[in-house]
Amino acid sequence: MDIIMEVIKSPAEMQKAAGALRSEASPLGLVPTMGALHDGHISLIKRATTECAAVVVSIFVNPSQFGLGEDFELYPSSLDSDLEICENLEIAVVYAPPADAMFEKGYDTWIEVPSLAAGLCGANRPGHFRGVATVVAKLFSICRPERVYFGEKDYQQLVLIRRMVLDLNLGVDVIGCPTVRENDGLAMSSRNANLEKNERERAIFISRGLYRAQDLFVAGERSVNELKKAAHEELEKGDVEIDYIEVIDPETMEPLEVAFDSSRMAISAKVGAIRLIDNLPLKG
Ligand code: AMP
Repeated sequence: MDIIMEVIKSPAEMQKAAGALRSEASPLGLVPTMGALHDGHISLIKRATTECAAVVVSIFVNPSQFGLGEDFELYPSSLDSDLEICENLEIAVVYAPPADAMFEKGYDTWIEVPSLAAGLCGANRPGHFRGVATVVAKLFSICRPERVYFGEKDYQQLVLIRRMVLDLNLGVDVIGCPTVRENDGLAMSSRNANLEKNERERAIFISRGLYRAQDLFVAGERSVNELKKAAHEELEKGDVEIDYIEVIDPETMEPLEVAFDSSRMAISAKVGAIRLIDNLPLKG
């Protein structure tokens, strides 16, 4: 069957289309994105298309998750090629609303997941996860998916969304997908497009830090201080500005002093003006 992809911009129309899709094609999957699609996004979309009868991809650069002075205005955008990618992947609907359709005049409802949002990126970006949780909940209510696909690349976001789905009985399956990397280890990110050549070369030291800590863990090191020190040394080689290096409990996001199997190292660092994040499970 040839699928003709629809591009929908209005929440009401999307809700109507989702109702019809769900009755014809279940399970209905959703892959929320901010566009500028790369192979990381594509891996989520491909997984969704193999596991769902129909898939909606949302493309929405959510203004409410960017703080003052962050890169909202500079966030990369490539809608035409994103639509082509989605069409080739036989997506049923791309939902690409304008900001004022998601946040109409007088908008006043917000979702907070305070404990999980407190540390790591939440500590440096106040209000970020409130914006994420609110928009993701809205996308669920507009697109009415049964399965939703998120990347482990944004690990704190994934854990927080799982919590929100449980707490609010949202009734969707949250599927976490592994991080897709460039050949040299750099985690794919839409923001990589904004790196200058020299910054792109320095950015690889973020994943090198993670892999160095993982090697140490496999060799038996469990002291978080030692693991952080090793990662720190790699990051210094790239001359990046470190926001945080933490080893966390993978469910509570609490920072640890002693690492255990499947705890995760998470790093955020600025390369020039571009803030990048990455994380890796520590497994021996
Ligand atoms: P974004 O467009 O950056 O908001 O990302 C949309 C979704 O794609 C989120 O669930 C991200 O975690 C996921 N994602 C982004 N980069 C990657 C990657 N390199 N590998 C796997 N998933 C990713």
